[in-house]
Order: sequence, then C-alpha cells, then structure tokens
Amino acid sequence: MSILTQAHFHNEAAAIARLEAIVWPNGPVCPHCGGIDRITPVKGGRIGLRRCGDCKKQFTCKVGTVFEDSKVPVHKWFQAAHLLASSKKGISSHQLHRTLGVTYKTAWFMSHRLREAMRDDPKGQLGGPGKIVEADETFFVNKKGAPVRRGYAHKMAVMSLVERGGAIRSVVLDRVGRIEVNRIIRRNVHEESRLMTDTAAYYKDRRRFGIAEHEKVNHDQGEYVHGDVHVNTLEGYYSIFKRGMKGVYQHCSEKHLHRYVAEFDFRYNNRSALGVEDTERAANALKGIVGKRLTYRYPNGTAAE
Ligand SMILES: [Zn+2]
Repeated sequence: MSILTQAHFHNEAAAIARLEAIVWPNGPVCPHCGGIDRITPVKGGRIGLRRCGDCKKQFTCKVGTVFEDSKVPVHKWFQAAHLLASSKKGISSHQLHRTLGVTYKTAWFMSHRLREAMRDDPKGQLGGPGKIVEADETFFVNKKGAPVRRGYAHKMAVMSLVERGGAIRSVVLDRVGRIEVNRIIRRNVHEESRLMTDTAAYYKDRRRFGIAEHEKVNHDQGEYVHGDVHVNTLEGYYSIFKRGMKGVYQHCSEKHLHRYVAEFDFRYNNRSALGVEDTERAANALKGIVGKRLTYRYPNGTAAE
C-alpha cells in the first residue's frame, strides 16, 4: 500500500487520532488544570473534543500547540511534515503550496513552523573515549550590505560537528574565528574524543579545545584522507545541504538560514542508517511542533494566523 493512502493524510478524524497519540503518549491530559482522571469525549462535539470532569472545561489535543491557532486541517500538517521529512534536499514553499492546495502564504508558514519543530536543543556532548568527531565549516549566503570580496568575510558560515556514525550539530555564525571555534568545540565535543579537522587557522592549537587527540588533513596540499583521518562525513553532508539550498530553496536570507540548517540536521539525525524511516521521521517532526508556539511573520510583514 502506498504511504500516501494512509487515512491520516486525508481523513481529519484519523489525523486527529494520530496527533493525540503524539501529544498525549500516555493518554489525554487536560491543558487547563492538568487533570487526567476524569476526561470524557464530548458526544456530538467536534472531532476530538473532550471534557475534563475536574475543571469542567472542554479541549482538544490541539490546545497549547501550533495547531490550535492554525486554520489548516491537521491532515494537511501530516502531509507537509511527511514531504519535508522525506525529501532529502527539502521541499520549497511553492511546491508545498501546489501539492497541498493551500495558499503560498500558508505553505510558507507551515514549512517554517515545521523547521522550527525540527530544531532540537542539543543535550550532552558528541563523541567520547576513542570516538571520532569531525569539525568543518562551509560558507553560504551573502550578508546583507557586506561588500563582496575575495575570501569568505562577506558570507555567513555554517559550522558543523559530527560524531562519525552518530549525530550532527550545526550552527550559523556571522564569522568563524578562533574564539567561536574554541567555544563551540569545548561546549559540544567530549574531551576524550578524536577530533578531526582540516588545517584552517582556527583549528591550529588543540590545547585551546582541551580535546585529547586532534588530527588534521591538509586540504591545501591536496590531502583529503590519511588512514581514518578525514572530514568526508561533513563534506558529504554539505554537498546535500548546498544542493538543497541552491536547487530547492534558492532565496534564503541570513535571518532564516539557521532554520534551514536545523532542517538538514534533523533529517541527518533521523536518517535511515540509524533506523529512522520516513513515517517515523515525519512523526518526530510533528512531535517537535507540540509545545513550540512561536509567533511568526510572513515575508510581507503581516502576522501569522
Ligand atoms: Zn481540567
């Protein structure tokens, strides 16, 4: 059976039932008083409407989530999450608008909400005793008003750390220098890891990072691999990222770059090689939406619905 024939992609009751399982993994909770014991469905009420016997108030699983204020039916959110989570290089708001049959504005709003949901707050450090962590950076998106010169000073930087065989963490930086690199590595890389980088100046002195082992490949001299020392995991990641940003997203301002980075990191961290397939990846994206209620503005400056 095609994944797209599944009921929650086109039937609102099925979609809400599935959203309930995501919002309330342990059963319904009253968003008004936190009650869990005396919750009953409201007969004849709208789909998913329940009543709390403790505080006498009514609610659905959408209360307190971004779905509450959105006029978009939940089954379309499932469609959008599936498309964004399963497309390796992302999906443009124009494509979402055509596929979902919603306005461009709504598609833009939905995809940014989903990107925000995909952003996770990093916990703990990458690497560990004997584990390999690669660090590298790529330069992207011209800064507003910055004169275009040789080198990278006029571009935003994306710096990434990846534990080989594990998770990735990327950050957007206005500039890459020793101080930023030092701070990011100290915060995110376990000190007993083997750190692998190229020979860029800001990686010069490993004592500043406090990492046990630091091995480098000299790209300037055409050296990309020696033994297991390389940053090819990140090179591969950046190649997908750049193809997506150039081919799919095309126009991305520096203001939104961190959201796209979160989207690509999310797909990498929920990849097939780690046993996460499309359906679960989409569910994980929707999980992140729950509780993240942010106000957004559309590109034309009007407030989000
Ligand atoms: Zn209650």
